[in-house]
Amino acid sequence: MEYDQNNIFARILRKEIPARSVYEDEFAFGFHDLSPLAPIHILIIPKGPYLSIADFSAQATAEEITGFWRAVSHVAKQQGITRDGFRIVSNSGPNAGQEVPHFHVHLLGGTSLGPILE
Ligand code: 5GP
Repeated sequence: MEYDQNNIFARILRKEIPARSVYEDEFAFGFHDLSPLAPIHILIIPKGPYLSIADFSAQATAEEITGFWRAVSHVAKQQGITRDGFRIVSNSGPNAGQEVPHFHVHLLGGTSLGPILE
């Protein structure tokens, strides 16, 4: 599958669609999920055109990968959830229910999250 330049997160990155931003640097953009599943539910996306975590890991430069995960860590600290704990989820492909074909991680926290699968 080819990367779709008009997926919703690509459009958010181009500022064609508004998002409630919490973090931005040259590698990553963090913003509130439109339909939060936890008191803190932030999406963090790399700026490059990667479909999934597999594409990102295989195709991004080391600098992009490091920059992205540093941004994830920064947002967790910024949101004040590192002491009580948080969860990072990345859905990849149809079996995982990935809706938006631009690699993203969900950063979830602010409450006890329960088991991963219910
Ligand atoms: P996925 O199922 O692909 O892992 O998650 C996509 C996430 O993007 C969902 O949690 C959904 O609520 C969120 N989402 C979809 N469209 C938008 C949007 O236009 N703005 C924001 N902020 N979140 C969105």
